[in-house]
Amino acid sequence: MNPSRKPLIAGNWKMHRTVSESVALARAVADTSRIGPRTEVVVAPVFTALQAVAQALVGTRVTVAGQNVYFEEQGAFTGEISAPMLKDVGCAWSLVGHSERRQLFGETDASVQKKLFALRKHGLAPIACLGETLAEREGGVTYDVLRRQLDAMTASLDAQEATALLTGLVLAYEPVWAIGTGRTAKSSDAQSAHAFLRDRIRDRYGEVADTVRILYGGSVKPDNAAELLAQPDVDGVLVGGASLDAAGFARIIQAAG
Ligand code: PEP
Repeated sequence: MNPSRKPLIAGNWKMHRTVSESVALARAVADTSRIGPRTEVVVAPVFTALQAVAQALVGTRVTVAGQNVYFEEQGAFTGEISAPMLKDVGCAWSLVGHSERRQLFGETDASVQKKLFALRKHGLAPIACLGETLAEREGGVTYDVLRRQLDAMTASLDAQEATALLTGLVLAYEPVWAIGTGRTAKSSDAQSAHAFLRDRIRDRYGEVADTVRILYGGSVKPDNAAELLAQPDVDGVLVGGASLDAAGFARIIQAAG
């Protein structure tokens, strides 16, 4: 971690937990975690539990994220949820471009960009996910994929617009082969990918790169979090499975300091 950026620990609960179970988990996270003075903590429950979880967390240091968002504000888009709707139920954040959305639900680089615009327009903070598949890593194209996914976020923007979008943005580098597999990236590989992303932003847009927080995601556990968080360009972690256990998630939060 670099002291100029606040550590961010995010839990993605995916399609797990009923409303009452989510509230209980959220309360357990807020009650048991010792959150360092500069650390930010976010949890992303299922849509049906967002409002109840947000209410349960009022007055705590844990904030709430959607797991996905649609880029239109309202209309005939059956099954979708918009940025103002996320805000309405108490979200401050939303994930976008998670690999499960890209792989299972047709999320594209172009739709990720539209979702970023929608979130920013409504004052929600995006956590924009990107990362290579196993085939891409084995094919030696990891950095081409990361460059393509990152550049797509600012495609067709002029430098001023791109800088505005990137200022304070949170990226989550999540190698797809590490998600839910128990196979974590080596901390040196995570650092290389994070440094690549930050350098790419710096090369194109300058100092705004230092304001971008880059989380690592992919089988983060209490036992490997500290080593990942010790890397200079790892500004936090996005945790799936291990965030469903409040005690384990609390240990990950503590690893951030
Ligand atoms: C995720 O869903 O973003 C994730 C990183 O999952 P896991 O920690 O279970 O690999």
